[in-house]
Amino acid sequence: RFSFFPDIRRNDEIGQLSDSFRRMVRKLEENDRARKAFISDVSHDLQSPLLNIKGYAELLGNPELPEGQRREYSEIVRDEAVRLSDLARQLLLLTSIDQITDLAEFEPLDIAAQLREVIRKYRWAFEAKEIYVSLELDEAVYPGDRELLEKVWENLLSNAVKYTPDGGEVSVRLRTAAEALTVTVEDNGPGVGPEDAQRVFDRFYRTDEARTREGGTGLGLSIVKEVVMLHGGSVKVDQGQSGGARFTVSLPCRHNQPAKR
Ligand code: ADP
Repeated sequence: RFSFFPDIRRNDEIGQLSDSFRRMVRKLEENDRARKAFISDVSHDLQSPLLNIKGYAELLGNPELPEGQRREYSEIVRDEAVRLSDLARQLLLLTSIDQITDLAEFEPLDIAAQLREVIRKYRWAFEAKEIYVSLELDEAVYPGDRELLEKVWENLLSNAVKYTPDGGEVSVRLRTAAEALTVTVEDNGPGVGPEDAQRVFDRFYRTDEARTREGGTGLGLSIVKEVVMLHGGSVKVDQGQSGGARFTVSLPCRHNQPAKR
C-alpha cells in the first residue's frame, strides 16, 4: 500500500492534483491485485492437470497393472493433456485480445454465415446428445475481427452443448436493428442463476455445479466478454423461456471506439 502518500484535502489545484494522484495509485493497486490473482489462478489451473498426469503416468509404469485400470488411467492422462492444451490455447487468445488496439483492421463479416458454420462444426456434438437446434437468422454484415467473433459463437455454442441435457433444445437467433445487432443463444439446461450472472464472465469463474464436472477451464465466457467489448458491445446472461441459460450479445451498429476494459 502507498500509505506514505500524503492525505491532502484542499479545494485548490494542489488538492485536485493530489486527488487525481490518489485515484491513479488506487487504479495501479487494483491492476496489480488483479494481475496477481490471475497468475495464481493460472498456476493453480496448470498445476492440477500436471500433477494428475504425473501421478497416473507413474501408476501406468507398473507392469502388473490390470488391463481395465490401464485403460482408465490412460484416458485420464489423455483428458488432462487435452485440458492443458485448451488452457494454453485460451490463455494465448486472451493475450492476443489484450494486444489488439487497431479497430481499422476490422473487416465486413457475414455474421449469419459465421453462425451457420460454427453450428455445422458442432453438428456431431448436437447429434450425439440428440439436441434439437433451431435457427432464426437475419442476414447481417458487420465489421469485426473474423477469428475473434468466431470464437465468441464457438464458446457460446460449445457451452450450450455442454450444459444442455440429452434430448434438449438450443435456439440461436440473430436480429438486426438500426442501432445494434443481437445474437441470442438459448438452451434448456440448468441455466445460470442471478447470483452467478455477472461472475460467469470473470476469468476462471465456474459455478459450483460446473466445477464438479470434468472439462472446462472457466475462460470461455471471459473471452466472449473481452471480444464483445473490443467491438464496443455487451454480453449478458439471463433466464430463457424454458428456464435454461439465455446469452445475449449486442454489437452496436456504429462504433468507433472499443469500450473501456
Ligand atoms: P467453462 O470452461 O467452465 O465452460 P466458461 O467461461 O465457458 O467456462 O463458463 C463459465 C461458467 O459459466 C461455467 O463453468 C458454467 O458454470 C457457466 N455456464 C456457461 N454456459 C452455461 C450454460 N449454457 N448453461 C449453464 N451454465 C453455463
